[in-house]
Amino acid sequence: MALIVHKYGGTSMGSAERIRNVAKRVAKWARAGHQMVVVPSAMSGETNRLLGLAKELSPAVGSPELNRELDMIAATGEQVSVGLLAIALQAEGVEAVSYTGWQVPVATDSSFTKARIESIDDTRVRADLAAGKVVVIAGFQGVDEDKNITTLGRGGSDTSAVAIAAALKAAECLIYTDVDGVYTTDPRIVPEARRLHTISFEEMLEMASLGSKILQIRSVEFAGKYRVPLRVLSSFTPWDISIEEEAKSGTLISFEEDEKMEQAVVSGIAFNRDEAKVTLLGVPDKPGIAFQILGPVADANIDIDVIIQNVSHDGKTDFSFTVHRNDYARTMELLEKTVGPATQAAKVVGDARICKVSIVGIGMRSHVGVASKMFRALSEEGINIQMISTSEIKTSVVIDEKYMELAVRALHRAFELEQIPT
Ligand code: ADP
Ligand code: ASP
Ligand code: MG
Repeated sequence: MALIVHKYGGTSMGSAERIRNVAKRVAKWARAGHQMVVVPSAMSGETNRLLGLAKELSPAVGSPELNRELDMIAATGEQVSVGLLAIALQAEGVEAVSYTGWQVPVATDSSFTKARIESIDDTRVRADLAAGKVVVIAGFQGVDEDKNITTLGRGGSDTSAVAIAAALKAAECLIYTDVDGVYTTDPRIVPEARRLHTISFEEMLEMASLGSKILQIRSVEFAGKYRVPLRVLSSFTPWDISIEEEAKSGTLISFEEDEKMEQAVVSGIAFNRDEAKVTLLGVPDKPGIAFQILGPVADANIDIDVIIQNVSHDGKTDFSFTVHRNDYARTMELLEKTVGPATQAAKVVGDARICKVSIVGIGMRSHVGVASKMFRALSEEGINIQMISTSEIKTSVVIDEKYMELAVRALHRAFELEQIPT
């Protein structure tokens, strides 16, 4: 008997019929003697619907002052899910109790719409488990020290589940979703993408941070920090398959670098449409210029991703960087009104129609020529690279958004990711 955390995403919770299926699956695990904690997301489309209602009521939605209220609204999606799932479990003859984040409580900081979990009180949950109940906890949400409801950012139920698993020292956290594991890239873009039986923690972290939406990045960070055994698997297999079969399906996030993983130079491709590029043209090339530009941007709480500074001509240079698309308008305003004039930039230009495509693999550490193979594959498709960023285990390029799918497919082919590494 073990303590297991299951997480079910929006599609898996998408209708009464699907919730019933989730309940049957969880009941199977509970009957096998496991202590079960279940973390569901809102029903698919529900979070978007709720946030859409808010947008209808005010053009100011999106500005930080309204984020507290947005969290109040968005958190209700998961509240409905936990209640429904607890009822469905009881209908299966399993004792179950549902909690919102604040009832546990899941304590977070006060960064509304992107709060960070600070601690989780396990007292209530442990008492219920000891009494033989399945505990259903709302994902995506928490409470700050002033008792405000907070949410953890889109896709945040993954993080709730892993953090809860860490707090309870669960034997495993199983992330049930609408695909049967982590693939070499999003199978919706590349149908030939291949499921990985295991992916190293570092690669998963890189994939998530580079935009692969299969797991929220913070969930992977939690798994790493607390060594939570983590598996991504399908909620669409028949609910009554054996637990043994289910427990080894999907993709395991592995903390060990085994030899097999070393063999694939590139393990996966991630892409991200959520960025925008801004450029200051003709800034004087002198010491401290990068700080003069990026300092005010950081002070405005805007995260900066890829940065590029050109070689100077006649003492002038061009300086570009990318930010999250949600911060694009704010960044442009800051550059046009303050930073541009202060640095004597000739012009400020921006482009929100870019994307970032990245190849990831721990094997890249020990192989040369991986980046050049990437650049060749892109050039053969006539795709212009605007920016490049590399680290030990990834190479990212910023390109025109309209070439994103073409680029991902070309790279998938170039690195033969559809084939099992030998
Ligand atoms: P959930 O609602 O269960 O949290 P998400 O939509 O957040 O599900 O994540 C699952 C989706 O992630 C898949 O449907 C798939 O389109 C997408 N995805 C992106 N990259 C990958 C990848 N490398 N492997 C598998 N799925 C991926
Ligand atoms: N319901 C939230 C969202 O749509 C959280 C989640 O699904 O993980 O982003
Ligand atoms: Mg998700």
